[in-house]
Amino acid sequence: MQNKSGKAVVARVLLPAGLELLEQRFEVSQGGLDVTREQLEEMVPGAIALVPDPSVPVDGELLDLCGEQLEVVSNFAVGYDHVDLEACSDRGIVVTNTPGVLTEATAELALMLTLSAGRLAGDAERDLRSGLWTGWNPGAYLGLELRGATVGVVGLGRIGLRYAEMVSALGAEVLYTASSRKVEAEKQFGFGWTDLEDLLRRSQVVSIHAPGGEGTRGMIGRRELELIGPEGVLINTSRGTLVDSDAVAEALEEGRLAAAGLDVYDGEPAVPESLLSAPRCVLLPHIGSASHISRDGMARLAAENAIAVVDGLEPASRVV
Ligand code: NAP
Repeated sequence: MQNKSGKAVVARVLLPAGLELLEQRFEVSQGGLDVTREQLEEMVPGAIALVPDPSVPVDGELLDLCGEQLEVVSNFAVGYDHVDLEACSDRGIVVTNTPGVLTEATAELALMLTLSAGRLAGDAERDLRSGLWTGWNPGAYLGLELRGATVGVVGLGRIGLRYAEMVSALGAEVLYTASSRKVEAEKQFGFGWTDLEDLLRRSQVVSIHAPGGEGTRGMIGRRELELIGPEGVLINTSRGTLVDSDAVAEALEEGRLAAAGLDVYDGEPAVPESLLSAPRCVLLPHIGSASHISRDGMARLAAENAIAVVDGLEPASRVV
């Protein structure tokens, strides 16, 4: 370990598992959960390492405010759609992320949303709490069973693959689409490759695991929801930009979608009013990676990546 030198700025907060490592190597300042863009701009000049989370846009202007000594944007997340990669590359700044350590937690959350949305647990619990439950009713809250259902996985990467394994273990047939074909997963688990349109038509559950960013913005809109149809359940734990929230709310209201389970929203932490009042949806506040193991692993990896780059070593998980 080198002597403590240089300034690292954690845009919001880093958990102790990573913060303690970072503090052994740098002078560290943290913006706090409520940091504003203006406060961040005042904090970053002189930083050699910047550690943002997904709620902090990192653009050319912020990089320039950091100054020419900035070596690394060590993202405290696997998704990096909030980081302008081109602006980083143009300035010779390394960008890293935290893949793998949050795969299990996020796949489990997608499974939880699949089961809770598919079985209308949100509406059932709200009814019970508000005194609307009048007793066992054979025709009420009827939902989906995974055994024999077709589950469409959009993006068979780390999280999508783990989720697919989980639903497959519960007896679902898995279809998938991704940028490239996954022949190993097809052979090992019997997953079926198809294009997005066919997947939407054939699946009772559609779970989104592709990355955010301009390339996937609006992937699931009105037309795609029509293809999923009134028996279908939509799950999104990737990024809110992939799904048109108003279109989902409308489809739920009008009975054109059976249920939805969402963890992420375009423009979060704002959640569209239409979704908040829509029936048959389970809405979570972006907690996909929120297990003790995952969040500690992310914090540690973000710190290790920042330290590696500044020490002239190859970081464990470089994006650019
Ligand atoms: P990953 O391993 O990179 O997987 C992404 C998958 O999406 C890959 O299979 C990729 O295909 C596929 N893909 C890319 N563009 C696509 C497109 N246009 N259509 C269909 N598939 C496409 O990433 P990961 O670690 O699984 O993470 C996935 C995403 O989950 C992250 O980007 C992040 O935004 C989100 N996430 C959310 C939370 C949360 O708290 N809710 C937590 C962790 C991650 P190829 O394999 O062919 O490249």
